[in-house]
Amino acid sequence: MKIKLHDKCFTSFISAKEIDAALDKMVANIAADLGDEIPIFIGVLNGSFMVVSDFVKKYPKPCEVSFVKLASYDGVESTEDIKHLIGLNENVSGRTVVIIEDIIDTGNTLESIYDIFDNKGVKDLRIATLFHKPEAFKKDLKIDYIGIEIPNKFIVGYGLDYNGLGRNLPEVYQIKNTQRMINIVLFGKPGAGKGTQAEFLKTKYNLVHISTGDVFRFNMKNDTELGKLAKSFIHEGQLVPDSVTIDMLQAEVEKNTDANGFIFDGFPRTTAQAKALDAFLESKNMELSATVALEANDEVLIARLLERGKVSGRADDQDESKIRNRFDEYNEKTAPLIDFYTTQEKFHSVNGIGTIAAITERLSAVIDSLNVEA
Ligand code: AMP
Repeated sequence: MKIKLHDKCFTSFISAKEIDAALDKMVANIAADLGDEIPIFIGVLNGSFMVVSDFVKKYPKPCEVSFVKLASYDGVESTEDIKHLIGLNENVSGRTVVIIEDIIDTGNTLESIYDIFDNKGVKDLRIATLFHKPEAFKKDLKIDYIGIEIPNKFIVGYGLDYNGLGRNLPEVYQIKNTQRMINIVLFGKPGAGKGTQAEFLKTKYNLVHISTGDVFRFNMKNDTELGKLAKSFIHEGQLVPDSVTIDMLQAEVEKNTDANGFIFDGFPRTTAQAKALDAFLESKNMELSATVALEANDEVLIARLLERGKVSGRADDQDESKIRNRFDEYNEKTAPLIDFYTTQEKFHSVNGIGTIAAITERLSAVIDSLNVEA
């Protein structure tokens, strides 16, 4: 599930059930270690209110509960961020204190609290945290009890907030890297104008254009292994096998790691390719912004392709039966992607008949309407 808090989007990360199980484990470990000692559990506000509440409800033996808050000294300008505790009314001298944190990341807060309690003559000071980010933790302090280790990503929910919002959520969400990239699939039958339009869009939006057809033709021209493999399929107007095409596409994306975004032209052409693209982009923390189809009827397309064939010399553009083969491939293998992307609410259709400039404008209108955050 996705939620939006202020300007950022978050996706489900840790369920209420997983949190509950982690708390059960922490409670069992702490109760076993402390035996009959009556501890004071101290939550560090604001974030810990929820974890402390659920934790102590599960604690099977007598215990005390209190909360503290770390505050900066008012009116003191200091380069060192010296903090003091507010809210601690109990005498903790000689007591067993367990500090309960919602999350420990860098350990800065924990270190301040640790030092303060260390000077109060407690008998036994322990640290428990529901969430821990080992990659972010920089301190040489022992954390005695850890509920769940998480990667170094910003999370909200279950007491944790983003600028004040999200604390009330019963489960935890992680930030979804805001899409600064425009990643577009240009979709359409052969001859629909994908390549032509991609050239304009790539300049207008500063994108990298990947045409799988162009990459295949480059490889055929240079007689590479890939070119030799693809040749027979391409000449017959058939699709090159998915495994070959998917690997090739991924390699092309990897070559442009600093791109602002991509125009995928001629890819995906099968459901397997579409699924592979989604998975691959997700692994790179990217996602498709939209699939835009250029629509035109077959007769217009055939006329265009035959014209193009005269100029380009492309064998697959010169023979009407090969062209029809490519349409058949499209209808059978590529057209199902319309449903695939419609379900993802990413499918847009644009009239592909008109002047080049008019069609660029239609495509730009779709791209400009996308909710890509700058
Ligand atoms: P295009 O230039 O996009 O019309 O592609 C020309 C030919 O390259 C196609 O007819 C296929 O044989 C092959 N090809 C291009 N992209 C793909 C793809 N995504 N999957 C399989 N074959 C492809």
